[in-house]
Amino acid sequence: EAAKPSHFIRQAIEHDLEKGSYASRRWGGGPGDGPHHQAGAPDPAKIRTRFPPEPNGYLHIGHAKSIWLNFSLAQDYGGVCHLRFDDTNPEKEEQEYVDSIREMVHWLGWSHAFADNPAQPGVPQPHEYFASDDFDFMYRAAEYLIEAGHAYVDEQTPEQMRAGRGDFGTPGTDSPFRARPPAENLARFREMRAGQHPDGAMVLRARIDMASPNINLRDPTLYRIRRATHHRTGDTWCIYPMYTYAHPIEDALEQITHSICTLEFEDQRPFYDWLLERLTEGGLLVAPPPRQYEFARLNVGHVITSKRKLRQLVEERHVSGWDDPRMPTLAGLRRRGYTPEALRLFAERSGVTKTSNAWTDYAALDAALRETLDPHAPRAMAVLEPVKLVIENWAEVFGSDAHLEPCHAPVHPHHPELGQRPFMLGKEVWIERSDYEETPPKGFFRLFPGNKVRLKYGYVIECLGATKDEAGRASVVRANLIKDTKSGTPGADSVKVKGVITWVGVADGVSATVNLYDRLFTEEQPDAGGRDFLSVLNPHSLQTVQAVVEPSLATAQPEDRFQFERHGFFVADRREHQAGAKLVFNRIAGLKDSWGK
Ligand code: ATP
Ligand code: MG
Ligand code: MG
Repeated sequence: EAAKPSHFIRQAIEHDLEKGSYASRRWGGGPGDGPHHQAGAPDPAKIRTRFPPEPNGYLHIGHAKSIWLNFSLAQDYGGVCHLRFDDTNPEKEEQEYVDSIREMVHWLGWSHAFADNPAQPGVPQPHEYFASDDFDFMYRAAEYLIEAGHAYVDEQTPEQMRAGRGDFGTPGTDSPFRARPPAENLARFREMRAGQHPDGAMVLRARIDMASPNINLRDPTLYRIRRATHHRTGDTWCIYPMYTYAHPIEDALEQITHSICTLEFEDQRPFYDWLLERLTEGGLLVAPPPRQYEFARLNVGHVITSKRKLRQLVEERHVSGWDDPRMPTLAGLRRRGYTPEALRLFAERSGVTKTSNAWTDYAALDAALRETLDPHAPRAMAVLEPVKLVIENWAEVFGSDAHLEPCHAPVHPHHPELGQRPFMLGKEVWIERSDYEETPPKGFFRLFPGNKVRLKYGYVIECLGATKDEAGRASVVRANLIKDTKSGTPGADSVKVKGVITWVGVADGVSATVNLYDRLFTEEQPDAGGRDFLSVLNPHSLQTVQAVVEPSLATAQPEDRFQFERHGFFVADRREHQAGAKLVFNRIAGLKDSWGK
């Protein structure tokens, strides 16, 4: 394997490993023993990273990058990566999302990689955590902060608090509640928890610095009152921690060493460090604390990743659902046929930098797909826009119109061990409509009256012309077969041709529904500059055709992937395709990049 490209996060990890920064870490056991494990054997895992999605929607292509980064770093440095559900926001979170996130991380090939299951030794399971499992600890930590004078209950209105926070360049002003003594704050906070105050009546705030140039340090909110049923803790709590408060604590309790996030959180890092320092000082956490590192999020051309906008696409039925093969969700990319290998290669190539406005071309994903699939995908012939071709001299050559001539092609041109695909050539075959032209344009070497072409893996034929329908389109193309030119026989080269066309026999071809996709948006940055992204939806992003495919495809299983010769890479749809009954294929990507051409 080629050396992995280095980047600033790798350098930080290597530096910490060399210095033994986290050598004193203790780790109590595997998953399932709860996250409070700051005692136990020295941690042999060296580093711990985490992928911390909020279970409020489906994962998308940007998450694939974060998943790749966190899990692959843990793997490369002999560490562990946690899957953490950051479920501190009860209104928007649901079990359905938890399940789908877990499924997608697993699909990408990571979730079960690094943990032994204590209940079933030898059966690995993910290191999986829920922020909500730490609600008790977070509450205790908040009481500690209050007692130590680091937090206070603020009863101002949200508007007053916003005004008091000031602005860039304008220092904030102290809340009248800021100087309240700890004992009073503690009593108030306990009342908040006991449900004695309505939602929004007051919040718990850190007491840091109202004049800080970093607005995130101007006494950020730690807890709010919210009467909402949580998907795991039910109605146990009517106060919930803010994400910015919960996240560092989760990292510390899980003994994360390198907490990797996107650049938007750079300004939160001082608070992250402040909070963990205070709690370590108070003996609630052990040193050394985790460190936060920020990298530029993945932006992909012609794709939107905002959960709100993706939801709008689904709810307004611009797409068929969250797993519509045009959606940039991992469920959609999977259904479209993209592979975990391709997504991983794509993520790896997009790089780990701090350049915030970088865009990655969608074509890079298709390139990764082709590169990883081409070496092993079985080949097949498919005719996507079929028109019938009749070989008029068939009986003359083979003795009977009913004769079928066996032909074959390699399953993969570079893997003879994969064997051959058998199919039949007969008097009638399906060819692509675009392979016939009555009056050929310059450079057209396929079927036109008087021209000879090879039916791939079959014989050379000479075109006689076509019968037309009322609309003037070819309804049947006519040809004669040239004897002794069968592929793989000594006479194959006796007649030179410039064109080779793919085909499927009428006798053994199988009909299939084929979905041909194009990008969902016509603009590279669909929501740039406040534009309504719906106004740049591509009306031709899905074209469904009735195709005819070679018989080897009749037994394809859902999610089997193929290269259809000349047409690109296709997958048997994981939802609608049924082997032997109803064939449905999705085009993943063409054979080469044809976007914008
Ligand atoms: P949204 O803002 O749409 O709700 P999110 O980014 O907040 O999405 P989370 O579920 O909180 O979604 O994200 C989980 C992890 O994935 C976070 O660590 C986040 O930084 C990372 N992530 C999300 N989007 C991207 C992206 N485009 N590129 C890289 N990492 C990303
Ligand atoms: Mg988030
Ligand atoms: Mg978010």
